[in-house]
Amino acid sequence: MGVMSCFRNNCDSIMCDTWVEPVGYICYECKTEFENKYAGRKFSREKFLKKLQKFMDSPKVYDFDVDTLSECDDNKITAEELWKRY
Ligand SMILES: [Zn+2]
Repeated sequence: MGVMSCFRNNCDSIMCDTWVEPVGYICYECKTEFENKYAGRKFSREKFLKKLQKFMDSPKVYDFDVDTLSECDDNKITAEELWKRY
């Protein structure tokens, strides 16, 4: 088996087992994200494929970024405040 990279913008997963025509390979993480995005909602298959195409064009945000954003604000300082500590 060769490398099957995810076709999602900015996604570097290479272990994709799902091929969606006409979107291409999608990895487990992106599938889950897409699933959560539309959890509990129903669309026709065509509509879902259109949404999926847009989703694949939208850049993937890695958990790393999410962690950075959700980090406790108390631990965050501006560069200005950093200088005050020295
Ligand atoms: Zn992916």
